[in-house]
Amino acid sequence: MDPEFHPISIQAGEGAWLIASDGKRYLDGNSSIWTNLHGHRHPKLDAALFDQLGRIAHSSFLGLTHEPAARLASELVSFANDPDLHPKLNRVFFSDDGSTAMEAGLKMILQGFSQAGEPLRREFISPDGAYHGDTIGAMSLGKSETFHHHFQTFLFPTRKVMAPACYRCPFNRAKPEREDARRYRKCNFECATLAEEEIHKVGHRLAAWVLEPKVQGAAGMIMHPEGYAQRTAAAARKVGARVLFDEVLTGCHRTGTALAAHSQRVMPDVVALAKGLTGGYLPLAATLTTEKVFAPFHGDPEKTFFHGHSYTANPLGCAVATANLGLLSGRDAEKQRHRIFRSLQEVSKQFWQHPNVGDVRQEGGILAIEIVRDRSTRARFPSKEKRGARICRAAQDLGLITRPVGDVLVLMPPFCTTDEEIEKMAESLFQGIRKEMPA
Ligand SMILES: *Cc1c(COP(=O)(O)O)cnc(C)c1O
Repeated sequence: MDPEFHPISIQAGEGAWLIASDGKRYLDGNSSIWTNLHGHRHPKLDAALFDQLGRIAHSSFLGLTHEPAARLASELVSFANDPDLHPKLNRVFFSDDGSTAMEAGLKMILQGFSQAGEPLRREFISPDGAYHGDTIGAMSLGKSETFHHHFQTFLFPTRKVMAPACYRCPFNRAKPEREDARRYRKCNFECATLAEEEIHKVGHRLAAWVLEPKVQGAAGMIMHPEGYAQRTAAAARKVGARVLFDEVLTGCHRTGTALAAHSQRVMPDVVALAKGLTGGYLPLAATLTTEKVFAPFHGDPEKTFFHGHSYTANPLGCAVATANLGLLSGRDAEKQRHRIFRSLQEVSKQFWQHPNVGDVRQEGGILAIEIVRDRSTRARFPSKEKRGARICRAAQDLGLITRPVGDVLVLMPPFCTTDEEIEKMAESLFQGIRKEMPA
C-alpha cells in the first residue's frame, strides 16, 4: 500500500459521470470496475429498487422463497439461452458476487459427478492468467502470481494451458502490425490444439474445462481468436467433462450478445454471472446450469447442494436485476449498444499514432490498449515502472477514471455514454499516454 495514495471520494453519480466530494466530475471509463451497464442513477433501476424497498429489503432464502427471485430466475433462463444452441441452462442458483458464483459452479460440478457415480472426476483445466475471483476455490481455478503467491499451498492443484493471447503468442510468426494481432496472426491455432491435447490426456479424471469465453479480463483483456471456445468445449464434452464458463465480465451484453457463449456458438454446462447482473447496482450473482448437472441433486435430501449465503437471492438485488434485463432487451437497447461499440472502434484508431502502443483490441463494449517499450519486438516495460497505472493516474487528472490491467489500458463505458463522452474518455487516456511517454 502506497502511503502517498489518497483515493478520490465519490459522492454521487449521474449517467456516465462520477462526482467527487469536492465537486469535480469524472467520466466512469471502466463502468465502475466492469459492473455498470446503463449509467448511474438510471430512473428505471432506481424505481425497481425503491419499489422493492417498499415491501422488504431482505428475507432468508433458506426454506423460503419470494417473487423477485422466482421472476428473475425465469427471466434469466430466457436471457441466457439461444433458441439454436444446446444444452439449455434451465436451473438457477443465486449467490452474491462473481467469486461465489464460481465457487458454487465448481462445487456443483464436483458434487454432481460424485453423486452420479463418477467420483474420480476431480481435475480442472483453465488457461494461463485466468481470473475467477479471490476466494480460495476461485483462486485455485485462476492463475495469478501477484494475487496468489501467499496462498499457493492452500490452493487445490489445477492444470493450466497456454492462454490464447495472439499478441504475445510464441507460435504467432507474424511481425507486429498496427492492428489487432488476431487479424494478422500467422499460426496453426496451436493454443486450441494444446488445450485439446491436455483435455484428452486428463480424460475421465477431468471434471471441467473452465474458461472466460472470448475475453479473459484480469489476465489483461486477452481477446481470443474465433473458434477457441467452441473447439475446447467440444474436446471437454468428448471426454465426458463439464464446460464451465465464467461470464462474470463478458455476460449481460458487454461483448455484444447476452452471453459471449452465444456469439461463439457454444453453450456451457454451467455459467457464472455477476458484475453486470444488476446493472452495477447491487452485489448479486447467479450460477446457471442444465437439467443434466442438476439431476444428481434431485430426490434424496442427502443429495442436497449444501451451499448458501445469508444474502442469497437478496430481493433488492433480484428486483434491480430483473429491471436490468428489461433494459437490455429490445431493438432500441441493441441499437444503443451498437452505437457505443462503433464509437469505441472509431476512437480506438487514434491510439496507433503513439509509438508505444503495441496492440489495440476490441470486443463489443470493451476496448483494450496494450502499452509496450518497443513496438517492433513487443518488449514490455519493467512491471515495477507501473506505466499503465501512471497513465491512468494522468488521465484521472484530466477527468477520466479507469483502471489498467498491468500495461493494458481499458475503456469500458456504460451503454448510456454519448459519442462525445466516449471521445472525451479516449482523449483523456491518449493525453495520459502522451504525458507519461513523450514520444
Ligand atoms: C470480477 C470477476 C470475477 C470475480 O467477481 P467478484 O464479484 O469480484 O467476486 C470472476 N470472474 C471474472 C471473469 C471477473 O471479471
